[in-house]
Amino acid sequence: MATPVNDSGAGPVVILGAGYAGLTVAREVARRARGRLPLVLVDRNPVHVLRTELYEIGKIAAAAGDPRPWTVPLAKVLDRTGTTLRQGSVESIDLDRRTVRLDSGEEIRYGFLVIALGSVAAYYGVPGAAENTYNVYRLSGAQRLAAVVRDTERASAGLPGERRPRFVIVGGGSTGTELAAELATTDWEQISGPGARPPDVILVTGALPFLAGFPPKLIVHARELLRRAGVSLVHGVNVSHVDPGKVTLEDGSVLACDAAVWCAGLEAPAVAKTLAVPHGKGGRIAVEPTLALPNHPTVFALGDVAEIRDPSTGLLVPATAQAALAEARTAGRNIVARFEGRVLEPFRFRERGVVVALGLGTAAGTLGRATIWGSPAALLKRLVEREYSRAAEKGQESRLL
Ligand SMILES: Cc1cc2nc3c(=O)[nH]c(=O)nc-3n(C[C@H](O)[C@H](O)[C@H](O)COP(=O)(O)OP(=O)(O)OC[C@H]3O[C@@H](n4cnc5c(N)ncnc54)[C@H](O)[C@@H]3O)c2cc1C
Repeated sequence: MATPVNDSGAGPVVILGAGYAGLTVAREVARRARGRLPLVLVDRNPVHVLRTELYEIGKIAAAAGDPRPWTVPLAKVLDRTGTTLRQGSVESIDLDRRTVRLDSGEEIRYGFLVIALGSVAAYYGVPGAAENTYNVYRLSGAQRLAAVVRDTERASAGLPGERRPRFVIVGGGSTGTELAAELATTDWEQISGPGARPPDVILVTGALPFLAGFPPKLIVHARELLRRAGVSLVHGVNVSHVDPGKVTLEDGSVLACDAAVWCAGLEAPAVAKTLAVPHGKGGRIAVEPTLALPNHPTVFALGDVAEIRDPSTGLLVPATAQAALAEARTAGRNIVARFEGRVLEPFRFRERGVVVALGLGTAAGTLGRATIWGSPAALLKRLVEREYSRAAEKGQESRLL
């Protein structure tokens, strides 16, 4: 019989990040190891954030700081998996000493390590972008944007003439598109008071085409629904710099605005970028098909922080919650397999479908080869989101996402 590579003396399975990947891998290992592998989950927040719903700026503004609709308390979830929660920010990882250091100075020793720290905004060196834009990649960022939009809308009732608030979204991927449609179609009078004027929303896709990489039919529907929502598209030119109240494009044109939002891309957080291991685009940790790090058989990286190539297609796996959940199931199985001395399996990704929200009650998506759009697509998206958060609260696996 093969020798297990971990034993209780070697330290627990330490999971960094309680996002889509981290929470799922905790559940998978707990289920399969049945108490033989102690689990520790580290996150800076005491809650799991429903990041895929952070484009809902109208609802976040209406909630006036109440985070509950976009979060699941970790204590509630982890109770059911016997996982110990350590709240703190991961400052560094020492792969030689097999330790993780938190901002409190505490060091945690691991037997297995799972790096699932997600991603942060990538500004590509564009001057002023980090300082002068908002983003919806974290709940705190989405709440700041929601407060600014709500206040700008409130003040718009007293604007002279026909002037309307103007919001510029940089990035024509799914996050920028969902956010632009949401801002343009929200009933701001209901949230900010009588006289709030519908905003001008401009979506700057940069040099990349609108919704680059998405199926062509989805793009056609999304473009039409965005047009109906009143969003203007600016494409073919990158942003050169951002100042307070204005976004300047590389062709010299200037877009004055009340707020600019950066949805132009993501990269690995600094703690992952600085690890002395192979990296891919945006500093993502390049992993083997088993999701383990090369030369570190008990360390795994998954979710947005990892660069994963599907060995059956040779293609990079997208940085989505859907992929993060699938990766986490494979990583969980592989951790237990390695513990038991069994052979590990390669990760293979099969996308179930994608749906992009395009304003209140409408969306465009694909399910297998079929394209869906309008209210059925929006209903499907809502159903998938609700089922995921209900399952997460109960410590169960989502069957739809
Ligand atoms: C607005 C928006 C809409 C989206 N819509 C979709 C969609 O419809 N479908 C889809 O599949 N994907 C969607 N995505 C992408 C999806 O949200 C991500 O791919 C997914 O969150 C990745 O999961 P993860 O577990 O890798 O990272 P995350 O879910 O981001 O989790 C990372 C965790 O690590 C923690 N963390 C980070 N750094 C530290 C640190 N130093 N110390 C301690 N804790 C730390 C964070 O607090 C967080 O809990 C969307 C993203 C956004 C922003």
